[in-house]
Amino acid sequence: MKQITEDVHLITGVPPYAINAYLVGDVLVDAMTKRDAKRILKALRGHPVVAHAITHAHPDHQGASHAVCETLGIPLWAPELDVPAVEDSALIAQRQPDHPINRLFEKLMTGPSHPVSRVLREGDDVAGFTVLDTPGHSAGHMSLWREADRTLIVGDVLNNQHPLLGFPRGLREPLSFFTPDPERNRQSIRRLGELDPAIVLFGHGPAHRDPARFREFCAGV
Ligand SMILES: [Zn+2]
Repeated sequence: MKQITEDVHLITGVPPYAINAYLVGDVLVDAMTKRDAKRILKALRGHPVVAHAITHAHPDHQGASHAVCETLGIPLWAPELDVPAVEDSALIAQRQPDHPINRLFEKLMTGPSHPVSRVLREGDDVAGFTVLDTPGHSAGHMSLWREADRTLIVGDVLNNQHPLLGFPRGLREPLSFFTPDPERNRQSIRRLGELDPAIVLFGHGPAHRDPARFREFCAGV
């Protein structure tokens, strides 16, 4: 596990940055796929973890949520409009555009359902970060913002590399067949750009530390 900035550690897999999770203070944010439970638990060893939150109910973010919460005995937190899909993971694929890759990912990555203990809404606090409603990539997708040092965790509102191929690196909108409402997602991107973050952390891709470039990209979608 690698420290990215104050109180934020990156957990990533093989290849690096293909799918990311973060330990934010003592809260695990996102949980990769159902095949990654061991990797995540190993990375968390020795670190206090009191809760697990997900940015959105997609297979590569909730896959290991059930296993991690059961093993560590911690509650699961999720943004309001994605709670139904977290609690009934059969809904995850039903809420996605109908595409062969989504049907494949459902088999390979989607984890079991798990009850949500805390429903997250705009303005709530998660380990010193503020919850922002950023829907479009999923109905309830949230981002996390810490104004004090302008750190932003965006989940999949944007990617910083091609999410399937790993290259090219760089800012991009998420793929349309993973995004039920691309226009609503663009509104979320523009909102995030206006925050003028110093460092941006993604579900897919390395950290981004070029505020001017980020602002420009977000304003242009
Ligand atoms: Zn996603």
